[in-house]
Amino acid sequence: MDRWTDFDGRMREIKDLDGILGLLGWDEETYAPRSGRAPRGRHTGTLEAIRHERLSSPALGDVISTLLQDRSLPLERRAMVERVERRRERALRVPATLVKAMAEARSLTLAAWQEAKGSNDFAHLAPKLDRVLELSRERADCVRPLLGPAATRYDALLDDNEPGMTAARLGPLLAKLREFLVPLVARIGARPRPDTSFLRGKRFDPERQWQFTMRLLRDLGFDLDRGRQDRSAHPFTQGISEHDVRVTTRIFEDEPLSAISSTIHEAGHGMYEQGFLPAFHGTSIADAPSAGIHESQSRLWENQVGRSRAFWKRTLPLLKEFFPAELGQIDLEAFYRAVNFVEPGLIRVDADEVTYNLHILVRFELEVALLSGDLAVSDLPGAWNSKMKTYLGVSPKTDSEGCMQDIHWPWGAIGYFPTYTIGNLYSAQLMSAFEREVGGAEASIERGEYGVLLSWLRDKVHHRGWLDTAEETIRRATGSGLDPAPFMAYLEKKFGDLYP
Ligand SMILES: [Zn+2]
Repeated sequence: MDRWTDFDGRMREIKDLDGILGLLGWDEETYAPRSGRAPRGRHTGTLEAIRHERLSSPALGDVISTLLQDRSLPLERRAMVERVERRRERALRVPATLVKAMAEARSLTLAAWQEAKGSNDFAHLAPKLDRVLELSRERADCVRPLLGPAATRYDALLDDNEPGMTAARLGPLLAKLREFLVPLVARIGARPRPDTSFLRGKRFDPERQWQFTMRLLRDLGFDLDRGRQDRSAHPFTQGISEHDVRVTTRIFEDEPLSAISSTIHEAGHGMYEQGFLPAFHGTSIADAPSAGIHESQSRLWENQVGRSRAFWKRTLPLLKEFFPAELGQIDLEAFYRAVNFVEPGLIRVDADEVTYNLHILVRFELEVALLSGDLAVSDLPGAWNSKMKTYLGVSPKTDSEGCMQDIHWPWGAIGYFPTYTIGNLYSAQLMSAFEREVGGAEASIERGEYGVLLSWLRDKVHHRGWLDTAEETIRRATGSGLDPAPFMAYLEKKFGDLYP
């Protein structure tokens, strides 16, 4: 067997295991009975052990090093080998004892988090969170040597989600964004609030909401022959394969905008997963180069498209067909204002486009300090509340609606939050490049011709998968690397008009 055939078979087997694990995860969040939790945990654990064994096999290591020395290896194949090597290096560097300790700490911390959040008792969570941080530092120290001498512990964790990004590069960009956002939020806060009462106190039939979200998925270009939508407590997208991409949404009877925006968001993730070049299917580069790039696709459709006037000009009449009694009398302008209602709040997942990134900044700055030890876990609530007051002008009354609101830290995901903001910045860069290169976004969205934008994204981002790094992908598509300027210009224009 030649070396490439050997490697190709091993790579595809790992990818198959990813797909099966993804399907199990999807099932757990959607249809599996609660009683199946424990055996499901074993199924997953067994498969993960098999995958780890495949990834760390010396035979795979041999074939990778031979292939990497081959200068005639075509670009795509080289990228495939490098992506597998990246995973393999990490699998080998982090000892099994640490992986096991992390999994145990995570499940204990998640349980403590749920209790502590319920009873607003941060002291109950604190020692568990301390342990998660300690293990995260250990993990970072295992991986850090792969990133070069300048890499910090935080860089090592960030690199898991946003390969190539560092805190030294990200910090100043985010600080620039903060200096722009804090006064903008204060300025908007001083303006009169738009009337959103027409959405309140009414019941929007869940079945009709469901049908409307299915219609939206189809219209936007999510391929329902190669995917499906279901319901879950927390919306997510899971690619099982390029021909089977699952998105979920959640429906609240009194909040129709919630299901609409979560469906559009997940459609953005889902269309990306459906868009990898067929030649790459089943390989290590049929994947996103970073969480931020993935998020740029969801945010682009959710916000840049799904909260635009052009989108609602087309979509409101359609929504009225589903809810004639509830929305029949509402005019476009009032609806558009309601969809873009800005208000500093305490909860990240409820935040609007303008305030959202300040929530991320609070978390980024605090997790950097927690990991380095500059901030003790016991001082987290105070530090949290003071940053919320400074950036957003609001103060949580309890830690449950403060530093305990998100699952990320208890779950051991340090270095993940910034990818949400990176996604927002990339999405604005992409829209402004589309406008420069193709133009007429507003007009095509207003006509419901989303395919114009989707084809461009396919060409620039989706097709290539992880052939290039995240920044190379964005640079290729927009002419520059991560840059907050287009996002700031977008907010300035849109919300300057809405809140003159
Ligand atoms: Zn997302």
